[in-house]
Amino acid sequence: MSECLFCGIVDGKIKANIVYRDDAVVAFKDINPRAPVHILIIPCKHITGVLAIEPDDGALVGHIFQVAAQLARDQGIAESGFRVVVNSGADAGQTVFHLHYHLLGGRQMAWPPG
Ligand code: AMP
Ligand code: ZN
Repeated sequence: MSECLFCGIVDGKIKANIVYRDDAVVAFKDINPRAPVHILIIPCKHITGVLAIEPDDGALVGHIFQVAAQLARDQGIAESGFRVVVNSGADAGQTVFHLHYHLLGGRQMAWPPG
């Protein structure tokens, strides 16, 4: 998937402000932040989105949530509150087709989301 933007970030071919990396995931600051803390957590493996998650990806998805919780603590938003959001498809506004989890926090958020 050489044409995939987020695979390019995983491979280091595209620059990003990386805040965490391990063998399975990379987390980096969103280029267009929608909250004081806005980090994207992505699997290193190319998965196009929620609809493409397979049974074997269960541990990976669980790991992503553990990383989200740790980053929330590190960023000081664990106690004040935060969201972990995945957009899927046109109605949700998905624009990048490599699975990514938005970690958002540092301000009061509305519900329901817009
Ligand atoms: P989504 O709309 O859920 O597909 O989210 C895609 C996100 O990727 C948006 O919040 C963009 O601001 C973000 N984004 C796009 N390109 C980059 C990039 N090169 N580095 C960091 N974030 C990016
Ligand atoms: Zn990709």
